Amino acid sequence: MLAPLSVLSSLGASSMASTDAGKVAVISASGESGEIATVDVNKGKMLPMDKLLALIGGESSWDSAAKTLNLTAHVQSVEFADETLKINCSFPAAYSVVYWASSKKLIVDIASSKLKSEAREVYIGSQGILRARLGNQTDCARIVLDLEKDIPYKVISDPVTSQIQIKVSESLPKPKVTITQQPKSGRIPFEITGIKIDARDGDNFDLVMATSAKGSASVAYGVSPPEIKVNLPGGTLENSQYVGSSPVLKDVIIDKSTPGKPTVTLQLKRIMVYSLNIENSQMVLSVRPPDRSGGKFSDKVIVIDPGHGGNQKGACCSGVMEKDVNVKIADELASALHAQGAKVILTRTSDVAMGLAARPEMALNCSADFFISIHCNSNGTLNSASGIETYYHKYEPSPMALAYAVHMGVCNSTGMCDRRPRSDSSLYGSGLAVLRRLENTGLPGILIECGYLNTASDRNKLLSSEYRKKLAAGIVEGLKSYVEGK
Ligand SMILES: [Zn+2]
Repeated sequence: MLAPLSVLSSLGASSMASTDAGKVAVISASGESGEIATVDVNKGKMLPMDKLLALIGGESSWDSAAKTLNLTAHVQSVEFADETLKINCSFPAAYSVVYWASSKKLIVDIASSKLKSEAREVYIGSQGILRARLGNQTDCARIVLDLEKDIPYKVISDPVTSQIQIKVSESLPKPKVTITQQPKSGRIPFEITGIKIDARDGDNFDLVMATSAKGSASVAYGVSPPEIKVNLPGGTLENSQYVGSSPVLKDVIIDKSTPGKPTVTLQLKRIMVYSLNIENSQMVLSVRPPDRSGGKFSDKVIVIDPGHGGNQKGACCSGVMEKDVNVKIADELASALHAQGAKVILTRTSDVAMGLAARPEMALNCSADFFISIHCNSNGTLNSASGIETYYHKYEPSPMALAYAVHMGVCNSTGMCDRRPRSDSSLYGSGLAVLRRLENTGLPGILIECGYLNTASDRNKLLSSEYRKKLAAGIVEGLKSYVEGK
């Protein structure tokens, strides 16, 4: 593949004449330099793309259907200095910056880019900033800055650049916007004057609703089928039109049939996660694929954690100890996952006691994709409760999506009473210790209570391998739907 010398300027590079007439000296945006032999075509000088990209950094692929050469920049360095996140790319790229208030993450997606180095984390640990995490998404590189608290930020660099700079500093003015994950519903009247879908990189998109005043909204979330419904109490809608589209969007249903309670429902082609920002004149629902979704299921590493062990017996009813049942369920799940080609690691295989933090720590240390803690329930009152509950940590979007997907799979396959996916903050203010360690790590973890040991019918099921097989099949189905989308 040959390209004219003019390709250099679009790659942020420049050239100089070489002492060798058959070569040209190239200096890349990031300062790499070297000489490349040119090829004469119709008296014009052309550069071989492979040699050029080898010098400046990057990759190319030929899309024969579209007859276009796709260029992928390399993210060469990520650092935090002078209160500024600095990301250097081998050539200019477009990027988007989104702040997830619920989990205090600043997410930078760099279009048509890829991380080259093996490094996946840059420790910062100062000024309220914990770390930058680095990862490759389907067609962009993603840098996630984990914050300890809300800190204002400002994008300093140009929209397309090889040196992305985002200042993150308490000295910046506080944003006027109020960002809440679950806003309180109110009845302040407001008019929705426009609805549009803004596609961003890959499958990411924003639902932007222009409002006459600061509105209120709540979100209902579903995974089967995948949809996100925005309830707009107090809102009025002139018409039910919207503009824009996204490849991951099946349809947008705008319903104004109940006066004062319009809804906008995004019907999705795959499981997505969201964050909602309500500003004075607009509401923005940012939608993206969940963490660790995409790719092949067989490439995923899943840590299964049979709860309790050793002297920590868990619930004990009629001589049945939870710690033993958990291991049996975990074994069943491990073989069901192996059958799908996934890699499985168990936190314990024998009857040993283990600390709560050590379990998720193991998942982080072995770079797992998912953490699933297996438990059985008991409320201490004979035969008083039945069914399955699935817990996620606080309101972290990806663990919530995983809990919904797995819970749906398990309830479908076992036919057990659906006691809903729940946030672990419904149990304790700071959530479950076994899930807390995974907070802000990008590794989705959940805890499943597979039935009530104090209820005879549930206990008999938990003791049967047939029920445990159904449980395992349901968890696998949920995990697969999270990874593969539907
Ligand atoms: Zn337990």
